[in-house]
Parts: sequence; C-alpha cells; structure tokens
Amino acid sequence: MMKVAVIGSGIGGLSSAIRLAKLGLDVSVFEANEFVGGKVNEQWLGEYRFDMGPSVFTEPALIEELLSLCGKDPSLFHYRQLAESCRYFFTDGQQVIVPAGMKQTAQTFETEFGENRLRTERFLKRLSKNYQALSPVFIQASLHRLNQWFNNGIFRAIVRIPYYGMIRSMYAVNQARFKNPKSAQLLNRMATYNGSSPYRTPGLLNIISHLEFNEGPAMPIGGMVQISKTLHQLCLGLGVTFHLSERVEEILHTQNKVTGIRTNLKTVDCNIVVSNMDVHFTYERLLKGLHEPKKILRQEKSSSAIVFYWGIKETVKELGVHNIFFAEDYQAEFEAIFQTKTRYEDPTIYVHITSKVEKGDAPDGSENWFVMVNAPINVGQDWDEFVLETRKTCVAKLSKALGQDIESLIEVESHNEPRKIESVYFGKQGSIYGNSSNSAFSAFYRHPNFSKTLKGLYFAGVTVHPGGGIPLALNSAKIVERCVREDYALHS
Ligand SMILES: Cc1cc2nc3c(=O)[nH]c(=O)nc-3n(C[C@H](O)[C@H](O)[C@H](O)COP(=O)(O)OP(=O)(O)OC[C@H]3O[C@@H](n4cnc5c(N)ncnc54)[C@H](O)[C@@H]3O)c2cc1C
Repeated sequence: MMKVAVIGSGIGGLSSAIRLAKLGLDVSVFEANEFVGGKVNEQWLGEYRFDMGPSVFTEPALIEELLSLCGKDPSLFHYRQLAESCRYFFTDGQQVIVPAGMKQTAQTFETEFGENRLRTERFLKRLSKNYQALSPVFIQASLHRLNQWFNNGIFRAIVRIPYYGMIRSMYAVNQARFKNPKSAQLLNRMATYNGSSPYRTPGLLNIISHLEFNEGPAMPIGGMVQISKTLHQLCLGLGVTFHLSERVEEILHTQNKVTGIRTNLKTVDCNIVVSNMDVHFTYERLLKGLHEPKKILRQEKSSSAIVFYWGIKETVKELGVHNIFFAEDYQAEFEAIFQTKTRYEDPTIYVHITSKVEKGDAPDGSENWFVMVNAPINVGQDWDEFVLETRKTCVAKLSKALGQDIESLIEVESHNEPRKIESVYFGKQGSIYGNSSNSAFSAFYRHPNFSKTLKGLYFAGVTVHPGGGIPLALNSAKIVERCVREDYALHS
C-alpha cells in the first residue's frame, strides 16, 4: 500500500489526510505541536473558553462533504447560521447591525447609509454570480494543470470577466458603486479576510462579500475548534495515525522523487508527502538545496494580527457575536500594515464574543472577548512595546465607544502576536495567510498544490493555492486529492 506522510495537522493537513485515506492510502500525520488543528485550537482561562485563531466561518457544506465522503451523516457536524453578519461602530458614533442575507443587507444599507435598496441587491446578486462562476475554476481546481483549469466552468468564468472588476482595486470598485463611503467600507473590509489591503487587492475579491452578506456567517456549536475536532475524528475513523510533538526536519528525496521524511525522532519511508507547513518554510527548512520557486516565495506576505483574549465580568448588550470598530482613516491603517510596517494609532478593532450564543464559554453574566487588530508581519519591530501600546489603544477606544471603563472589566487575559504566530504555527514572519493578494495577479503567484520538481510532493493549506481562510484550505485538500488521483491513476 502506498504510504503518505502529512506534515502538519492544520485544516489543510487534516482534510488532505481524510481524502487520501479514503483513496485507500496508508496515511500518517506528523504535527510539531502537542495538539491537533493548527491555528484552529482553543484555550481556557479559568472558566472562559477562547478560540485562538479563526472566528469567521462560512461554507459549512465543505465540512459536511467530508462527513459524507466518510459515510457519516453530514448533520453530525452541528453549527448555527448567525442572524447577524456583524455589528459596525463608526467613529462618528453611528452603530449599524447588518443582518445576514442579501435582501436584509440591502435594506440595511438603504436605512442606515441611504443607498438604493434595489441597486445594492443587484450588486450583491452580481457578486453571487461572480462567485458561482469563479469557484470551479479558481477555487476548486488547480490553476497549474491545464486539464483541471480548462474545465467546463471556464467559459462561464470568461463570459463574466467584465463584471469582476479585475483591473480596479476593491476600494475603487466599491467607491464607484456606493454613494456613502461607509457602505463601501463594509465591503472593503473583506480584503482583510485573506490578509490583504482593499486599496491594492483586485475588485474581483469582492466575491468574499457574497459569503459574508448573502450567505452569512455560521458558527460551529462548541466553537471553531469543533472544525478541527470533527476532522480529527474522521481521520481516526479511517485509520490515520497521528504523531504529535514530532517535528518534520527534512523531506527526503532521490532522483526527483520523494522517498520519506526525517523528523526530530526518526526517519520514515513514504511515497507521498503533503506539506501543510507554510510553503516558504517548507522550502527553507525541509528542502534545503532544492531549487526554490523564488518569484512565488518573494511575493509580499499577508498581514499578521495581535489578539487579546479577555474574560469580561459583565455582559455588554451593544455587542453581538461579531463587532467592528472602524478606524477613522482606513487607508492610513493599511499603509501602516503593509508599507511602513508600524503600529497605527487608531486601528480598526474586531471584537468576537462566542459566549453571546455559547453560554458555556463564559461564567454567567460574563463574556469571552476575542479582541483583534490587524498588524504588520514581523520584521523585527519591538513587539513588547507594540502589544502594550495596542492594548492601551484597544481599551481606550472600546471604553469610549461603549461608554464604560473596559479595563476594570477584564478579569483574565492572554494575547497572541506575530512572533508567536511564527513560532507556534510556523507562519513565515507571522503572516496568517502566506502571500497577500495585494496584486491583480496574486492568484497566479500562489504556490501550486504539487511540486513541479519532486514527484510525490504536494501542498495544502492557506499559503498555497487557492489561498487564505478555512474554506480555501479545505479546497486545497480537494485539489491535492485530485492531483494524487491523476498522478497515480487512483480512483475514489
Ligand atoms: C488570529 C487569526 C485569525 C484568523 N481568522 C480567520 C477567520 O476568521 N476565518 C478563517 O477562515 N481563517 C482565519 N484565520 C486563518 C486560519 O487559521 C486558517 O485559514 C486555517 O486554520 C487553515 O490553516 P492551514 O491549513 O494552512 O494550517 P495551519 O493552521 O497553519 O497549521 C499548520 C500546522 O502545521 C504544523 N507544522 C508546521 N511545520 C511543521 C513541521 N515541520 N513538522 C510538523 N508540523 C508542522 C503546525 O504546527 C500547524 O499545526 C485566522 C488565523 C489567525 C492566526
């Protein structure tokens, strides 16, 4: 039986393991940390539970698909669709709750921002059509294999080119579409969902707004960590073996073919390796001496983040599950993140509170606040000072917007920052999603899901095609499976 070693148990690694085990291969997962799930893990601070990384979850059907693939009832993955997509707080004091759903969003844009309801609805419908057209070509298939890319969907995708806004930035498209800059800002924010700047990412990426506004966010019952727990259980059910606290140090190869891996504990023979490690580090640390795809690896990195996990000994009724407190000057904030790589004094703050719907996540009358600020990658800034100052800013800004002293409500706390994202999850310079999408051609500068040099080497996760976020990591595994089937003439 062909043997597979998966490096890393992030969402891309776990879903690849499931798919390859279902092909009848003998799969082992090697994970440097003592826990499974990569960035999708949790921590408890006293009686407060926190998801450590992702908080926005769309396309639960991709998890259900994996359950079905394993012969399980897809409804075993429990989640709720949230009634609200997000609550927005502007610096002029305006507060807007945006409900989930195309019609509801359009209505809110009319009531709150004075936009024409039907015009907004038409635009959101267009984004939905763009998403349906682009997904089979740019998200579910390899861009680097003509047979996959040139699929039946290609003509539908080509026909819609005039509607994507490929030449202009997301900001320019939205600025032209909406008369109120606030409405545009809500859509511009979606660039951050893959760690990019709306002022540079192409308008095409407005398709993320289709998922946020039309489909609306979901939330796994029990928190985001249930995603990795569910995938882990599926792996175990298929006989996948896990080697935790075992770091892979080298991918072994001879005559342009993978032959195994060397970990900090042993050498393991295998025919196929799937790396869920940041692709940059895969080359830098595991494939020393192998010719690197320099152009791809030198692309600008996505943003990083500073997250404060605060146990708050009160419930704040103005807040929902997802909340955004915007910066006054959004453009200056992105310049600080990507150009000067410095701290911006008035950052946009995201507050996520699962205990609004998951009562067990905080003691009665309390809340678990996940307070996140987008940050530059690690280029040697003084992070201790950066974190300290950002914390002060968050406390001050939230206290002002909510009209109460937040500092006095913080009962327990911890934080995460770019250096930790780099050292715990091995994200190059603490970037969350590998390369940014800050150019019109960024999709073509993501690493393929397979190696062009070494037979048997594949890549899954957010640092390779199709890009950042849980749904895309799940799709990367789907593409890996397809490539393996093609390369070894296997049938599902
Ligand atoms: C603060 C934050 C907020 C985020 N918010 C969102 C969000 O709202 N929505 C969303 O969809 N996504 C979000 N993300 C991104 C999300 O975490 C990823 O999309 C998702 O977890 C998939 O990651 P991945 O498959 O690339 O693997 P990762 O989670 O990066 O896991 C890679 C794994 O590989 C292991 N590894 C690396 N090198 C080795 C080695 N040499 N040997 C063995 N093991 C190794 C690591 O330990 C890690 O477990 C966020 C991330 C962060 C940090």
